[in-house]
Amino acid sequence: MSNVKEKVVVITGASSGIGEATARLLAKQGAHVVLGARRTNRLEKLASTILAEGGSAIYQALDVTNRNQMESFIALAIGKFGRVDVILNNAGIMPLSPLEALKVDEWDRMIDVNIRGVLHGIVAGLPVMKKQGFGQFINIASIGAYTVSPTAAVYCATKYAVRAISEGLRQEAGNGIRVTQISPGVTESELADSITDDEAREVMKEYRRISIPASAIAQAILFAIGQPPEVDVNEIIVRPTAST
Ligand code: NDP
Repeated sequence: MSNVKEKVVVITGASSGIGEATARLLAKQGAHVVLGARRTNRLEKLASTILAEGGSAIYQALDVTNRNQMESFIALAIGKFGRVDVILNNAGIMPLSPLEALKVDEWDRMIDVNIRGVLHGIVAGLPVMKKQGFGQFINIASIGAYTVSPTAAVYCATKYAVRAISEGLRQEAGNGIRVTQISPGVTESELADSITDDEAREVMKEYRRISIPASAIAQAILFAIGQPPEVDVNEIIVRPTAST
């Protein structure tokens, strides 16, 4: 897909799951991928694999809850490649639990990573894209941005927020800047590992039997990036066929 070749794509949460699969796919298509996450050992391995296959990848430690780190991450991309074509706000966590368990620390972490993390991507990236006159934000929401299920109230709230922020950004971003929200259904990744509530973990184990591979979401991201500049794909939902 020629519109992807040479694009500078910044990916948060690139150390596993959807972020990792997307980095691999986009690098194969000739994009320069800039990888961020906290587990730098994973990023290092991923970047060396991409380089060994003839692709282009750099990485930096990133905690999306820290605004300065996000600014420095975007600055890395600009320093190396001179521009940013795409910011993929993908990092997220999902420690599900019933509200009555009062796992307030986990609620706070979800709000910090899933909402504030996306806002930090916008803080760091929007002025850059405005100055460039082009760019694309791709924010990973969820089917939990459309419906709420038991144990997922706070997680879904963060994803409803991502959907609202994405739509607001689309309306305000202006000419040349594209905004895409991608909402996966259940997908193979490490996302459920953050669940500490026994009941929620059991329910999720059963639910995840129908998971689709992370590469399926990467393909949707590739599609959105690969469109001509005047075409702005705003929303894609990708579910397992077996979903109810
Ligand atoms: P993974 O757990 O495999 O990946 C999550 C990524 O986010 C990891 O790379 C992790 O890296 C990173 N991350 C977590 N916290 C932070 C942080 N504070 N700063 C920087 N990076 C962070 O799960 P997925 O690939 O599934 O998740 C990707 C996105 O997809 C999330 O937003 C999730 O909500 C969404 N999603 C996933 C679905 C699924 O079924 N898998 C369904 C719907 C939406 P590290 O720990 O190294 O920092």
